[in-house]
Amino acid sequence: MSSPACSFCGKTQSEVMQLVASPPVAICDECAMLAVQMISIKHPDWRERLMRTLALLPKRPGETK
Ligand SMILES: [Zn+2]
Repeated sequence: MSSPACSFCGKTQSEVMQLVASPPVAICDECAMLAVQMISIKHPDWRERLMRTLALLPKRPGETK
């Protein structure tokens, strides 16, 4: 089986910073960023929810406060 690739741009994990796979589809960090921008433009409220969600995340994976 071939390595997973972004369903939007077709790049594989080796070509992007992060590939989020949810078989049978996947999205790369670049396309996710684009999606965030598009949704934020159309839905200002959603952007505020996103910012609140991001604020709850640790700075790095596995890092505790
Ligand atoms: Zn992509």
